[in-house]
Amino acid sequence: MKEKYKEMLDTLRELCAIPAPSHMEYKRAKYCKNWLEKAGAKGVYIDEAINVIFPLNCEGSNDITVFAAHTDVVFPDTESMPYIDDGEKIHCPGVGDDTASVVVLMMLAKYFIENKMVPPKGILFVCNSCEEGLGNLKGTRQIFKDFDGRIKQFISFDCSYNKISDRCVGSHRYEVEVLTEGGHSFQKFGNANAIHVLSEIISEIYKVQIPQKAGSITTYNVGSIVGGTSINTIAQSAKMLCEYRSTDKECLEMMCRKFEEIFENARSEKVQVLVEKIGDRPCSNIDDKKLDRLKNICKPIIERIIHEPVAFESASTDCNIPLSLGIPAICIGVYQGDGEHTREEWIEKASLALGLEIAIKIARLLGEVEDEK
Ligand SMILES: [Zn+2]
Repeated sequence: MKEKYKEMLDTLRELCAIPAPSHMEYKRAKYCKNWLEKAGAKGVYIDEAINVIFPLNCEGSNDITVFAAHTDVVFPDTESMPYIDDGEKIHCPGVGDDTASVVVLMMLAKYFIENKMVPPKGILFVCNSCEEGLGNLKGTRQIFKDFDGRIKQFISFDCSYNKISDRCVGSHRYEVEVLTEGGHSFQKFGNANAIHVLSEIISEIYKVQIPQKAGSITTYNVGSIVGGTSINTIAQSAKMLCEYRSTDKECLEMMCRKFEEIFENARSEKVQVLVEKIGDRPCSNIDDKKLDRLKNICKPIIERIIHEPVAFESASTDCNIPLSLGIPAICIGVYQGDGEHTREEWIEKASLALGLEIAIKIARLLGEVEDEK
């Protein structure tokens, strides 16, 4: 295990040094493909969505289990980001979410290769692309397109190991642009101002009463605005990014109708409101009971290894895609850390060894290379 621990840390340091904003994961994907091939993996390929795929005994199988971790990070940086190993922790943006998980996933694949384990129904190991933000789950969508109907369960490694997300949060994201005639601030005073119209739209959004369906959580947000030309110009254009999310499909649809109404009401002969949907993450479309088996297997294994209780939560992850298709999926953690999506993110170094233990135990059970206990 000592050797493995060192190998994990070396791999983590090398992967962290490769920038990987969503849609720009190619260098990381190539690194992962080479790494897996060096570990003895056969048949590894990079698909058109920049997923790295290692199918193990999947040929002819219609009962495939997927283990996935995403290669992209939320940061737009295209240069390496600072990587600090203080002996106990590693500090680097994206180190936990989800780079450490990718390392554990590859180590898991290597464990299967080294031990010549042949999962009878096939396992797909995937370092997937585009999980974050406007990546819009492109990588996972591609997997379910290419393996249409053949995947029967999906496990994503993506978060600290004291959490499991078993419920997915759906969302719609928009770029909204208001266009008006504008003009000179003095000579054309009274002409519609795009900034003013957009502000009114935002005020209306913040008056929306969120749906009160029992057990559901719904939220909305305006995340950024830009617009205008100069201090003495009636703004001709103003833009914003906004979103709403919900754990419930019906609530998501209700929010959709409310937002569309607000956009429509702002339109007039002199005001254009252009709405582009830039993100669409589906809600779950599966009976919760169908997730019990995965939950009942994963939770006790993780708790036994980390000696802490594990909590269930809702999140927006790669699991949204299988869950929306009615396929059991769960998102578990294989490291301990904090500060995801901030530049202060860190992980506990020692947690990687526990993470690998979790991954191996769960993969052996779900891959049916040992009996369920
Ligand atoms: Zn993530």
